[in-house]
Amino acid sequence: MNSAQTIVVAGLWGTAILALAIGVYSWRRRSMGEWAISFAVLAFAIAFWSFAYGMEVAVETQAAKLFWAKIEYVGIVTVPVAWFVFALQYTNRAGWLTRRWLLALCISPALTLLLVFTNEWQHDLIWTEIGMDSSGLIPVLATTHGVWFWIHSAYSYILIIAGAILLIQAFARYPRAYRRQNASLVAGALLPLVANVIFLSGVLPLPHLDYTTFSFAICCLLIANAIFRYRLFELVPVARRTAVDNMRDGLIVLDLQNRILDINPAALNLFQRPAIEMVGYPLYQFLQDQAYILDGFRDITDMETEIDVNTPDRLRTFALQISPLHDGRDHLSGRMITFHDITARKEAEQALARARDEALAASRFKSELLARVSHELRTPLNVILGYTEMLQEGIFGPLTPAQWEPTQKIVASTDFLARQVNELLDLARLEVGQLQVNIREMSVADVVRDVHEKMVVLADAKGIQLLSQVQDNVPTIVMGDPNRTAQILLNLVGNAIKFSDGGVVQQQVLVADGRLLLRVSDQGIGIPAEMQETIFEPFMQVDGSLTRQRSGTGLGLAIVKQLTELMAGSITLESKVAQGSTFTICLPLVTANGEENSDAGNHK
Ligand code: ADP
Repeated sequence: MNSAQTIVVAGLWGTAILALAIGVYSWRRRSMGEWAISFAVLAFAIAFWSFAYGMEVAVETQAAKLFWAKIEYVGIVTVPVAWFVFALQYTNRAGWLTRRWLLALCISPALTLLLVFTNEWQHDLIWTEIGMDSSGLIPVLATTHGVWFWIHSAYSYILIIAGAILLIQAFARYPRAYRRQNASLVAGALLPLVANVIFLSGVLPLPHLDYTTFSFAICCLLIANAIFRYRLFELVPVARRTAVDNMRDGLIVLDLQNRILDINPAALNLFQRPAIEMVGYPLYQFLQDQAYILDGFRDITDMETEIDVNTPDRLRTFALQISPLHDGRDHLSGRMITFHDITARKEAEQALARARDEALAASRFKSELLARVSHELRTPLNVILGYTEMLQEGIFGPLTPAQWEPTQKIVASTDFLARQVNELLDLARLEVGQLQVNIREMSVADVVRDVHEKMVVLADAKGIQLLSQVQDNVPTIVMGDPNRTAQILLNLVGNAIKFSDGGVVQQQVLVADGRLLLRVSDQGIGIPAEMQETIFEPFMQVDGSLTRQRSGTGLGLAIVKQLTELMAGSITLESKVAQGSTFTICLPLVTANGEENSDAGNHK
């Protein structure tokens, strides 16, 4: 072996080792996909070819060189098939590779091998002449090729070119972020072809040397780098597919003729058909009598809407979204329909709306009933009261003392009843918004005096001292509704007396922070903390039992609160059980000349 031979052999065996390493690496990663196996086979075939070629260069005699040249063919015929199969598998076309097709692909390589090893039978299909060329730096076999060699070459080129086209097509679709990987893959796919063109053009030194194994090894290196180093990228389409398959929304991809290109399991479930019956067929075909649904969307490429669909079991509502799909050159190429079953939500919404309407109707009915009943009750009550008073006044003849007493009871009870009815009527009116306050000039002192006069008898009867006070800083005349203000105070003072068994009840009016405060306090039984909110609701009483000692309907405070709010005020309560309660009404202070929040400190 001369030194040129040594260099070339070292180069070829180096290539063989490189290809072997790539093959082992890929084989170890075969769990990533079948393509890793075919890629390993490709690399092993290149390694084998390179090694045998090195042997061919290394040995000296023609017979030995011919022997290794034949052995090389095991690698040579395997490379194109492995390359093509790898390209199919890597670009997700493994479905084409039925066993029959794989066998068909192998017919030509098998024939080639057979003819190579039977060349000495003089069929001359591979080599017509075999000799030695020792003129160059390296002695090589000098051969002329027979017919089958050219058939074999054409076949190999077709497979290699087809594989390269498949790969380049797939790489071109990869997102921009993967440009480096992309470039490396495209270069890898093109390299064997480019190398072959260069080889055939004869511009390289040592014209009898075949560089194909070099170029293939480098090609494998580039491709291996791209597919293994960036292998995570492979997961992206898988992840997307999984997401689409598992999502609960239906997804249908249509081409421009509305044929189904893709449909996910959720959508299939709705149609109750397998994908194989639907993909490729027009969507209309599966909508039967409901095809009209699509009519409205025939040419719409971008919208969101809700549709009702009669499914076998029931009417369902879907939120439908149609989005346009564009190809790489921004031409509209189809539509994507996604739909989401919102039947449950719709039904819940409708139920809620129904419940709300019913509640509103019930509330209106209740208020109307209250208003009517209260009104109808008041008239006869007034008649009873009127006639009883006439009896007492002796209009129908003088009453004996024995008769006087029952009339007193009639008056008291009727009075009580009338008050209750009035409260009911007020509350009903407040609830339907019929009760309005009548704001005019009002003397706070007069209101307080009236309340005092009405209540002092009750207080005296229970041994309670009633104190009424208007502080100096309250303007003589303020804007307000004297009747409703009195009603509030009467209620609060009435309660204070009712829920006290002695001590002092005080009603007080003052101005603080520019607001008018009405304060009623007592030293009575107090209100437990947990009841202090709820007693302002209608019919709420601390002692709600029928056997309670202090009569009442539980409406007073509800009325007080609503009246206060009607006057743009607020009510607060401080109370301790067994110590007493203080209710404070806080109203906006408007003086007679219309100034709000004026400092009214010195008006009185
Ligand atoms: P009524 O007095 O007709 O029961 P109210 O709405 O006026 O209805 O009062 C509701 C409840 O609040 C009363 O039943 C009572 O339990 C409690 N309450 C009201 N004022 C006082 C008070 N000053 N002291 C103690 N408890 C009170």
